[in-house]
Amino acid sequence: MSIRRGRNFLLSPGPTNIPDRVLRAMQRPAIELHSEELIGLARSCLDDLKPIFRTREGETFIFAANGHGAWESALSNSLSPGDRILVFETGVFGEAWAGMGKSLGLTPEFITGDWRHGIDAQILEDRLRADKAHAFKAILMVQTDTATGITSDVAAVREAMDNASHPALLLVDAVASLAATDFRMDDWKVDVAVGASQKALMSPPGLSFVAVSPKALEHADKATLPRHYWDWRRRLDEEAYMWFCGTAPEHLLFALREAMDMVQEEGLENIFRRHQRLADAVRAGISVWAEGGAMELNALVAREQSNSVSTIRVDERYGADRIRETCEHRLNTSLGGGLGRLSGKAFRIGHMGDINEPMLLGALGSVELGLEMCGIPHGKGSVTAAIASLADTKKPALAAD
Ligand SMILES: *Cc1c(COP(=O)(O)O)cnc(C)c1O
Repeated sequence: MSIRRGRNFLLSPGPTNIPDRVLRAMQRPAIELHSEELIGLARSCLDDLKPIFRTREGETFIFAANGHGAWESALSNSLSPGDRILVFETGVFGEAWAGMGKSLGLTPEFITGDWRHGIDAQILEDRLRADKAHAFKAILMVQTDTATGITSDVAAVREAMDNASHPALLLVDAVASLAATDFRMDDWKVDVAVGASQKALMSPPGLSFVAVSPKALEHADKATLPRHYWDWRRRLDEEAYMWFCGTAPEHLLFALREAMDMVQEEGLENIFRRHQRLADAVRAGISVWAEGGAMELNALVAREQSNSVSTIRVDERYGADRIRETCEHRLNTSLGGGLGRLSGKAFRIGHMGDINEPMLLGALGSVELGLEMCGIPHGKGSVTAAIASLADTKKPALAAD
């Protein structure tokens, strides 16, 4: 067993750091299932998710499940066997979600991407215009693909659908972007949005969420994919026991409540700004490393570079996993590895949720030390570059009110 002193630096893109406040909120006994306290807590969690998804009209649901559970809920409530769904590939998660659709009896079709760019709304629009019969019943997209560190423009996708006058539902995976990057369910006419507790929402893994538009709720009456636990309509019951299709995940709700209090205290705009600022600093550090010629940021277009996670491609000669393993085993710093076709070819720095400047500077310093220890060529001075970025007064830490 290796001895570790001090705090472990968790820079994985999920699960993320759980604030002490949130951990402490769980240190209590279970309470009676039908108590007013629990019902009030559950109601407040469901209601307060709405402003986080930026929806007034939508309904929210909470599942005692990870993000994959909410994915299944999104598909099984809105679609029927054989329905065609269109997915634009920006990394592993869209493909995986559509793959789940296939297992459920849907017919996914992919628009392939190069994993270095976000969704091209024009390609999507052309594809939808060509679908005169409206065979596609849903468009699936991932706002921030955690494998590639790419954030796609949801508003542009909605515009492409509107330009093509296509009636498909818009289903958005916002798991890695919710409460880190601007997301507007109502403004962008998103029909089903999916989130999870363990990314920017700073909570333990184990809860996931869907926000559902009135249009998608109507579809749930027509959709014929089998569902029971995931069924939205059953969960709209007056009886609180049904909101979770059984016993509420009490301690995870205690945690979520505390985390949502923290979100409300900071304010979404400030949260987005903090993520932007910290992500800019990480990118400043990565550009310094890139000067050594052995690595570079995966996302090529500046406005598509995610504020939640940065994926760094490493020349295959050097082995990206070596950096991750060195940081993990010798430097108390957990990073993400490469996923899918980037497996062994990239490492990832997560920078979402409960994270601040010193944590970030520590992490960059750690990775740079790891690069040094592994003998991987890199420019030196990522921390200095990050400091310069953070010190830029044009990017204040807090929004002026
Ligand atoms: C983490 C993640 C998921 C999967 O969530 P799980 O909780 O691991 O099931 C889905 N989509 C995106 C974009 C993610 O980052």
